[in-house]
Amino acid sequence: MAAPIQRMSRLLLKTLRDDPADAETLSHKLLVRAGYVRRSSAGVWTWLPLGKKVLDNVARVVREEMDAIGGQEVLLPALLPKEPYETSGRYDEYGDLLFRLTDRRGGAYLLGPTHEEIFTQLVKDQCASYKDLPVILYQIQTKYRDEARPRSGVLRGREFQMKDAYSFDVDDEGLAASYRLHREAYVRIFQRLGLDFRVVSAVSGAMGGSASEEFLAPAAAGEDTFVDCPACDYAANTEAVTTVVPPRDDAAHPPLEELDTPGTPTIETLAAHLGVPASATLKNLLVKVDGEIVAVGVPGDREVDLGKLAEHLAPATVELVTAEDFTGRPDLVRGYVGPQGRAGTAFRYLADPRVAPGTAWITGANAEGRHARNVVCGRDFTVDRYLDTVVVEPGDPCPRCGAGLTVGRAIEIGHIFRLGRRYADVFALDVLGRDGKPVRVTMGSYGIGISRAVAALAEQTADESGLCWPREIAPADVHIVAAGKPSATAPQTVLALDLAERLHGAGLRVLVDDRAGVSPGVKFTDAELIGVPTIVVAGRRAAEGVVELRDRRSGRREEIPAEEVAARLTRG
Ligand code: ATP
Ligand code: MG
Repeated sequence: MAAPIQRMSRLLLKTLRDDPADAETLSHKLLVRAGYVRRSSAGVWTWLPLGKKVLDNVARVVREEMDAIGGQEVLLPALLPKEPYETSGRYDEYGDLLFRLTDRRGGAYLLGPTHEEIFTQLVKDQCASYKDLPVILYQIQTKYRDEARPRSGVLRGREFQMKDAYSFDVDDEGLAASYRLHREAYVRIFQRLGLDFRVVSAVSGAMGGSASEEFLAPAAAGEDTFVDCPACDYAANTEAVTTVVPPRDDAAHPPLEELDTPGTPTIETLAAHLGVPASATLKNLLVKVDGEIVAVGVPGDREVDLGKLAEHLAPATVELVTAEDFTGRPDLVRGYVGPQGRAGTAFRYLADPRVAPGTAWITGANAEGRHARNVVCGRDFTVDRYLDTVVVEPGDPCPRCGAGLTVGRAIEIGHIFRLGRRYADVFALDVLGRDGKPVRVTMGSYGIGISRAVAALAEQTADESGLCWPREIAPADVHIVAAGKPSATAPQTVLALDLAERLHGAGLRVLVDDRAGVSPGVKFTDAELIGVPTIVVAGRRAAEGVVELRDRRSGRREEIPAEEVAARLTRG
C-alpha cells in the first residue's frame, strides 16, 4: 500500500527563507531551509519528516542491493565495551575521534565508530567450520565519531548513519569474490540513487589492510580531492597518486657553488633575488616525525601534502616544527636549510621522486643569508627515502598513461577494504578447514555513508531554487499545490484534494499543499525548495478540471486535464 497522503496543513514543516548563519555548503543550507533536518548540537542532527523519508529511501536502496548479494542484515549495539578495541589497538589509534564513556560501575565503553572488532567476535562465536563461510553481514546503524570540524551539515556528522558490511572467507579467492560482489553492488546502489560517482583507489588509513577503493561523488563541497585521467580509466584519491619519476638527468653539472643571498628565507624571495623560476629551487620542509626533526625535499614550486606525508609515515605522528625546535640546533638554519654537506647528516632526508639522482638544485647553504647552486642529488647529497608527498596539481602526468591529470573535489560516499587477516589474527578467528585443520579467516569491510549520501545527492542535484531529488529518493512522487483562495471550498482546494486521493489510489506517494492562509507565491517557492520531481498546480483553470504539470528539474510546464495526471506519472 502506498504511504498515506502527506498534507502540508498538518506536516511538521517550517521552511526558512534565509540560510542558517553557520552554513557553508549548499546541502547544509538547503536541507535546513527546506525543513529536512534540524541542528541539535555540533555535528548532531534531527531528521524531520521529509528528511526521514529521504534517508529511509536511501537506506532501502542500499538494503535491497545488499540483500541481493546475499548480505544478512543484523543490528549490533552502538554502545560497546572498550576491550575489543583495545585488543585491536584502535582504542588508542582513533585518538580524539572516539567517544569514550564510563558506566556507573566504572566500566569503560565507547560509541562505535565502525565495527570490525565486534563483527569478528560475532563470527568467531557463530561460525565453526568452512561450511559456515562465506558469510556477508551488514547493518544500517548510527555511528559516532568526534570529528574535529563537523561543519558541513549532515555531510560530516559526529553522529551519522552508516551501512557497514563485513565479509568472511576462508581463502584469498573467496575474499576477492566477496570484494567484487560488494564493488558491483555499490555501483548499482549509487546508480540507483542517481549520484554521479567515480571509483578510485585510496589509501587505507586507520583501517589497515592492503587495498581499498573509494566511491567519490564529485561536488564543490567535497573534502576529498581526486584525480581523473582524461585519456585512460585511471582515477585516484590525490592521497593515493603515485608520481611518475622523470627520466634521470645525467648532464654533467658544474661544481657546487655558494652564493650570498641576504634576506631570502622563502622560495619567493630567493627566486626573485636570483631571477630563477621557483621550480629550479629545492624546498626543504622541516617536520617532526615522532618528535625527530626530519627534512622533506620537494621542488620549490610544489607544496607538501601533510596528509599524504602522515599517511606514508603512519602510525608515526607528523608535526610541523616550531620556533622552539631551532633552539640548541645551530646546524638547522631557519630559511636556509640544505641537504648537502655536513648539515645534511644532521637530519634524515625524505624527498619527492622529482628530486631524482642527477638532478641539480638551488638550495639553502645552512648559513644565514646563504644559498648554494648546482647542488646535485647523488653527488652532493643523498636521499634516505623517497615518498610521494607533494600536492597533486592539474596537468601532472597520469601514472598509467602519462596524459595530464585533472583534479577535482569530491565527497566520499563509500569505501571498500580488502582487510585480509588483520582482525582475524588479532582475535584468532579460525574455522575448521576442508582438511580438518583450522584455517585463519580473511575479511573485507565495506561502508556507505547513508546520511552523507543524502547530502551528496542534494549537492549534486540542487539548483538556485532549491532541492531537486531524483524520484526514487524524493520524499514524494508528486507535490500538488492548491493555488487559489485559501478556503476549503475554493475550486483549487477541492481539485487538489480530489487529485491527491486519486493519485494516492494509483499507488503514488503524494504531498499536497492544502495550507490555508498561505499565498500561491509562497507555496510555489516552497515547492521548488522542497524539490519533489513533479509539481502539479491546481490554479486558474481548476474549475474546468485542468491543472498545470511542472517538471522541477527542467522547469517545463504543461496544462493537462486532472484525470490524465495519474497515467502520466505511473508511466514513469
Ligand atoms: P572521511 O575521510 O570523510 O572522514 P572515512 O574515510 O573516515 O571518511 P570510513 O571509515 O571509510 O570513513 O567510513 C565509511 C563511510 O562512512 C564513508 O565512506 C562515508 O561515506 C561515511 N562517513 C564517514 N565519516 C562520516 C561522518 N563523519 N559523517 C557522515 N558520514 C561519514
Ligand atoms: Mg574512508
